[in-house]
Amino acid sequence: MNKNKSKKLMKTNFLCGILLFTTGIMLEYGATLPDALSVDILNADAMNLSFMEVDTSYEKKEKVVEQKKEETVTPVPMQNVIDTSWGWPTSLNYGITTQYHSGHPAIDIIVYDGNYNIYSASSGVVVTDTYKWDGGNYLVIQQDNGYYALYCHLSDKTVGLNQRVEKGQIIGHMGSTGLSTGVHLHYSIWDGYPYHGSSSVNPWIFY
Ligand SMILES: [Zn+2]
Repeated sequence: MNKNKSKKLMKTNFLCGILLFTTGIMLEYGATLPDALSVDILNADAMNLSFMEVDTSYEKKEKVVEQKKEETVTPVPMQNVIDTSWGWPTSLNYGITTQYHSGHPAIDIIVYDGNYNIYSASSGVVVTDTYKWDGGNYLVIQQDNGYYALYCHLSDKTVGLNQRVEKGQIIGHMGSTGLSTGVHLHYSIWDGYPYHGSSSVNPWIFY
């Protein structure tokens, strides 16, 4: 091998070396670039996933709160509760002198404590406020529950015609007016306006 040939071979080897080196770098970059991209995509997916996970947990929390709301019983304000119970029309220190029967469509009530207040058994409106020879001073109250209450022999009345009354409100005082032999309340309940094609109801079924 002469010197010229040797130099040429070295040159060729050198150039080939540079070419290989450059290719290596290019390949290196070529290999790194997709890797870097794929990492970015993975990161992006991971970010999306974690974002979705956050969203899901948020929805779950909302659902739990909604379920709790459904399970909670909302208290009804007392003024909106319809009171269907009946109040006793006299003092609670009372006695019964005549019970309800076919010839007496009422109960006669006396009191022992001197409290002669008459209380409306239920809320309603006064539809009759008058005097009659047998019932004496009497009131008819058309109650909100659909029944009519008749209070007879009152000494006086504290409510008047068309007046609205509430359960427990004092409507008058026990007396002996009309066809009566002593101070008592003739308390009578009807399913329509009393003695006008209606039927009396035994008051005891409400107590
Ligand atoms: Zn009576």
